[in-house]
Amino acid sequence: MDPGTIAAAVGGAKHAIDLIRLAVEQRDELKAKEATRDANDRLLDIQQACLSLVGENAQLMKRNTDLENEVSKLKDFHTDIANYRLHQTVRGGICYRPKPDMPEAKMAVYLCANCAAKGVKTYLQPVGGGFSFQCAAGHGEIPSDKPEPYGTTQADTDFNPFDR
Ligand SMILES: [Zn+2]
Repeated sequence: MDPGTIAAAVGGAKHAIDLIRLAVEQRDELKAKEATRDANDRLLDIQQACLSLVGENAQLMKRNTDLENEVSKLKDFHTDIANYRLHQTVRGGICYRPKPDMPEAKMAVYLCANCAAKGVKTYLQPVGGGFSFQCAAGHGEIPSDKPEPYGTTQADTDFNPFDR
């Protein structure tokens, strides 16, 4: 609803009331009836504007609630992802691993870096005999920390759960 529409409706109603007052002062019954009809029309305009505003306000309140929920989820995600750090697997895959002080650091827990960039936490699952991870959100296969069968590795890492 354009604020100008509401102002015009209120202005029209005020003008119609002024015409009623004038007609009453002039004791002109015909003008008073016309001004009353006009005032009723302007009041209907105001009523329509108010109903429209109620609807728009409800939409804005819902949108505000949705955005608050989204902000809350993102805050929770950022609090959680602070327990992880970017990690390049020994076979060159980029993912997130728990920081060393996290209990999960002793397990083969990996998060998808592409999902994390979008504010989503997705656990990667091993596929292909553990040589790759799969992202359930469709980010494909990520080479894992499991060393090649012939022992060749590309990156150094301070923890490899497959070395145990
Ligand atoms: Zn992903």
